[in-house]
Amino acid sequence: MRTVAVTKIGSLRDPDEQTRGRIGVVDFPDQPLGPEDVRIRVAYAAICGSDPHLAEGFFGTDVPIGLGHEISGVIEELGAAAHRNGLQVGDRVAGNFLRFCGTCRSCQEGKQQFCEHIQDYNRPGMAETVTWHESQVYRLPDAVTLLEGCLLEPTSVAVRIADKTGIKVGDRVVVCGGGPIGQLALQVMKRYGATSLTMIEPIAERREMALRHGAEFVVDPVAENQYERADDITGGRGYDVVIDASGSSRAVKGLLDIAAKGATVVYGAMYPADFEMPLNLSDYLYLKELTLTGVFVSPYAFPRALQILPHLELDEMTQSVFPLEQATEAFEVHVSGAYPKVIIRCNDIDEGGRA
Ligand SMILES: [Zn+2]
Ligand SMILES: [Zn+2]
Repeated sequence: MRTVAVTKIGSLRDPDEQTRGRIGVVDFPDQPLGPEDVRIRVAYAAICGSDPHLAEGFFGTDVPIGLGHEISGVIEELGAAAHRNGLQVGDRVAGNFLRFCGTCRSCQEGKQQFCEHIQDYNRPGMAETVTWHESQVYRLPDAVTLLEGCLLEPTSVAVRIADKTGIKVGDRVVVCGGGPIGQLALQVMKRYGATSLTMIEPIAERREMALRHGAEFVVDPVAENQYERADDITGGRGYDVVIDASGSSRAVKGLLDIAAKGATVVYGAMYPADFEMPLNLSDYLYLKELTLTGVFVSPYAFPRALQILPHLELDEMTQSVFPLEQATEAFEVHVSGAYPKVIIRCNDIDEGGRA
């Protein structure tokens, strides 16, 4: 089965071709179909900002490492007992690449993100087919195309970020980083009643995209003084909710200074494993009572992500599509940042006359 994989560990941005990481298409064995499993013929798999981190060896260095956790497709085959959610062969679906076992202590304590068996079904989906447990699979609403459906997983991350902000209607909200998660978080927070909604982003195209989809203000952190802008926008009070979706070690510290007293700051990205951020406890936790938190994965968020997906504006995130065999080129375009999202078409699937 053809699968997109990391074939050499290294940074995809390394200017030296000798040490640069590499993405290729390789043959993987078919995944076994257990009795409660669902085999999905993958239509689309989106490249995630975390995929280059896998190329750098963040989760292990044994190549090839299969990629792809943002997928949509059509059910091809069901295990004999995979009928508890009413899934049928031919259903258009998307899903969660992680299976939460439901049995371990973490799952029973309502903390599925820490499931002790979380890796069991973590199978690469940037492939011709993927086989998941039925609990990972969700039927797409009619209003959502397969192309849009591969954005269910990143949408679930935006929903989970919103959960962790504890936002109240009318809160002043800033999102740092205009990549896909930042753009989706912006749209989700808008629907949640965010005010003074601001995007901090150095790339002009991404700022303009944010303005088209609900941002009231945008800040260029390179050309502008973001602290003065934040003061202007919030009347000197700061933001009640601060979301980092940039993962940038340069950006994260300054976010504490645009947070209001009592604010919640969600570090909602992946960060370099060896990066440490200095934190003055007296200023930020004692005097300012900030709540700092993060997001690992997005448990309990998929059903709501599915509800909100038809209401999001996804057109600008579905414009760059490459066939499976051109995955290497697709990753080059992803790394160039030319498009907010780059998507791999894993199979040509007719949606029965749908757009
Ligand atoms: Zn992702
Ligand atoms: Zn578990």
